[in-house]
Amino acid sequence: MKTKVANLLKELYLDPADLTVGNLDVTTPINGEFIGSVGTDIPSSVTHKIEQSVEAFKAWRSLPAPRRGELVRLLGDELRTHKDALGALVSAECGKILEEGKGEVQEMIDICEFAVGLSRAINGQTIPSERPGHHMREYWQPIGPVGIISAFNFPVAVWSWNAALALICGDSIIWKPSEKTPLTALACQALLERAIAKFGDDAPANLSQVIIGHADVGETMVDDERMALISATGSTRMGRAVGPRVAARFGKCLLELGGNNAIIVAPTADLDMAIPGIVFGAVGTAGQRCTSTRRLIVHDSVYDNLVPRLKKAYESISIGDPLSGALVGPLIDKDSFDAMQRALDAAKAEGGAVFGGEKVTVEGCEGGYYAKPAIVEMPAQSESVCEETFAPILYIMKYSEFEEAMTMQNDVPQGLSSSIFTNDMREAEMFICSSGSDCGIANVNIGTSGAEIGGAFGGEKETGGGRESGSDAWKAYMRRQTSTVNYSRELPLAQGIKFDI
Ligand code: NAD
Repeated sequence: MKTKVANLLKELYLDPADLTVGNLDVTTPINGEFIGSVGTDIPSSVTHKIEQSVEAFKAWRSLPAPRRGELVRLLGDELRTHKDALGALVSAECGKILEEGKGEVQEMIDICEFAVGLSRAINGQTIPSERPGHHMREYWQPIGPVGIISAFNFPVAVWSWNAALALICGDSIIWKPSEKTPLTALACQALLERAIAKFGDDAPANLSQVIIGHADVGETMVDDERMALISATGSTRMGRAVGPRVAARFGKCLLELGGNNAIIVAPTADLDMAIPGIVFGAVGTAGQRCTSTRRLIVHDSVYDNLVPRLKKAYESISIGDPLSGALVGPLIDKDSFDAMQRALDAAKAEGGAVFGGEKVTVEGCEGGYYAKPAIVEMPAQSESVCEETFAPILYIMKYSEFEEAMTMQNDVPQGLSSSIFTNDMREAEMFICSSGSDCGIANVNIGTSGAEIGGAFGGEKETGGGRESGSDAWKAYMRRQTSTVNYSRELPLAQGIKFDI
């Protein structure tokens, strides 16, 4: 594995020899093997990078936005060329299957395309003024250096959602990737640096930088008032720490935190569509997506048909080396496996019947933590169901009235993704009405995971309220400015007040 990773790093313009001398060891979750080590930042190096980022911002913000878009276009080109290598490195470093690794890079390419178009469309509006001879307009201005904190499970796509938009908006960027996935971050930075070299002298030095380390390194950036926006993706625990720190200095925060996503299976659901949607959502990326399906709320009338079919489907899933064609790879580490086992024990104590969940030994990958995805039939939506356990556990509950299903769907602390399988138009529309799903994502006849970049991505409640990626998410990376211009020869004062001067 080490040789494979070294070859991928070379393809991605990194010298593997430089990546074996740092103080942060990187191991692959596939078999636990050491694949590199990187140097971590310390508070003074973070502060120095922030100083550099401020200088880069001052130059970058003045470049016309469509020209800034050209840099993102070049980044998209680099990603297209290196999709296979970066996708494989993602798989090696975070353990997702190869197709998912490449799919993540495709998302990066997609957001680059989206951002290039947006670089000609980050326009404000004109507002009718109540005063004669006045124009009122709204401008969107670059906001300043943007700090990006990302999680291990989408080690590169989340950066690109932020980076592509921040760059076209005129902001400089500093990225703190997960301490579990620094190699992919350095590879992305190397690709962006190649794009910058092709772009030419218009791009200031240090437009994009990476800081490496654990939470303390992130905190130095989070606390620095020069960082205009902190966009942080990770657990709700992390958001609880980061949000108040940024608020204390009146900075802006975009939080993308944990989810506890449910699918409602209604009496009229097409089970041939629902089953693949449920299985993909629950076991894909070994249940380590923020949008993974964690809860299934099933109508009494379909329960006895659906659940055995799901169990049968689970039996057929291949679990193993994600680089060798398996559909489910490893959990990220031992802590994650232990958390899964604790959650299953808690569910049993609450009356749950557990199917699956055992450790799987994969030949040649004995150092990895592989588990059979679990289905847990629960008598009620009890305490353990309301927590996000970042592992392939699908809790199943029954309902008899639609209102009961909606209450269950909304009755968890998180609010990221949700879905209903139904052919009843009334139910479908109620699911997405003002008193329906309280999540940032509400789908009908499609599962909870696999969002497209064109829509705004994010969720409510403990998911943090932030929106990234498509729609008007770009506004978070800019500051709004209202401007009134008086082109008359009078100066009407507010409230009709006149000074005798
Ligand atoms: P994590 O919270 O452990 O770490 C995420 C990042 O935050 C890492 O880079 C970590 O070093 C950093 N961090 C942690 N504490 C910090 C602090 N006090 N100050 C600054 N930085 C800090 O999460 P993880 O285990 O890497 O990822 C899994 C979690 O991320 C899950 O809860 C998942 O739902 C969530 N997630 C959410 C989204 C989303 O878009 N909503 C996307 C991906 C993952």
